[in-house]
Amino acid sequence: MKIAVFSARRYDKTMLAEANAGAGHALRFLEDRLTAATAPLAEGCEAVCVFVNDNVDAEVLGILAAQGTRLVATRSTGYNHIDAQAAERLGIAVVRVTDYSPHSVAEFAVGLLLAVNRKIARASTRTRDGNFDLDGLMGFDLHGKTVGVIGTGKIGVIFARIMAGFGCTVVGYDKFPSPAFETLGGRYVGIDELLQCSDVVSLHCPLTPETHHIVDAASLARVKRGCILVNTSRGGLIDTECAIAALKSGQLGGLAIDVYEQEASLFFQDLSSTIITDDVIQRLVSFPNVIVTGHQAFFTVEAIGQIMRTTIESISDFERGQPLRNRIPANP
Ligand code: NAD
Repeated sequence: MKIAVFSARRYDKTMLAEANAGAGHALRFLEDRLTAATAPLAEGCEAVCVFVNDNVDAEVLGILAAQGTRLVATRSTGYNHIDAQAAERLGIAVVRVTDYSPHSVAEFAVGLLLAVNRKIARASTRTRDGNFDLDGLMGFDLHGKTVGVIGTGKIGVIFARIMAGFGCTVVGYDKFPSPAFETLGGRYVGIDELLQCSDVVSLHCPLTPETHHIVDAASLARVKRGCILVNTSRGGLIDTECAIAALKSGQLGGLAIDVYEQEASLFFQDLSSTIITDDVIQRLVSFPNVIVTGHQAFFTVEAIGQIMRTTIESISDFERGQPLRNRIPANP
């Protein structure tokens, strides 16, 4: 099958080609992000393979359908960048990767939390400069603190288990509670109680119309003063301007994010020689108690290998007319 692979970075090219070795699909790697302007590059490809910042809206799907695309495969778990209903209308099947090392993201969330709480990145920058002063680097013990987990699915439960191992009390909020969370000692509470009692809040729910800006001015007003907020899920869960206001007032004690609402025009590219015009991200990275990474929580050998293998398997299943295990429903 001919596959147009958008947003293809070096690691996508090598690892997808490796996964494809036995399957023999024809891969057309494109470094561009998928948009209405770049969609014609997929002309003649029955399958289009995308990533989280590709724009797979109704307009783009219309162009792809007219060019003969019948399958969109996203190399991600989240699929908020895809208009699943439009795809259904146009007869395009959409698959994602439901299962790949959730440990990759959960472990990274813990890393971000430690880095922002214990000022590890700041300390490292200082020592490189010959500055071994400890002033300004004090954090707090996680042991004995309360950690709130919003979204206790695959990643949230692993994050919660690690935090329980640190000796934290773990509370959770989820629309669909899971026994696995309670088995590890977690206690479900309402979202208000979670915000009020947690020293750390970590977001692990998907971005949906319901969870969009789940962290806004009202919820930030309810958090425990000095709380650390961690987001490895999707940028749109946080109203970033409100988070900045909460950091300025001290209501938020720290912010560690791997995702950012306006990340599409920034992340996955080297902009170090350009003037970044996004004042919000520039303001954020100027805070000493903020850590921003560029959507890398999933980026481990294990996770990428599994993402590529599952993507190729789904495409091969589609080609053979077999049931699609990872198909996204039109009405999620
Ligand atoms: P999952 O589907 O296993 O878990 C999501 C959980 O969120 C479920 O338990 C679900 O019931 C819950 N949820 C849904 N709507 C909710 C709501 N309104 N309020 C509270 N909880 C709600 O997904 P997962 O594999 O754990 O992944 C979680 C998210 O992590 C993904 O949606 C994706 O956005 C993000 N993610 C980020 C990266 C990264 O590299 N930064 C990588 C993979 C996934």
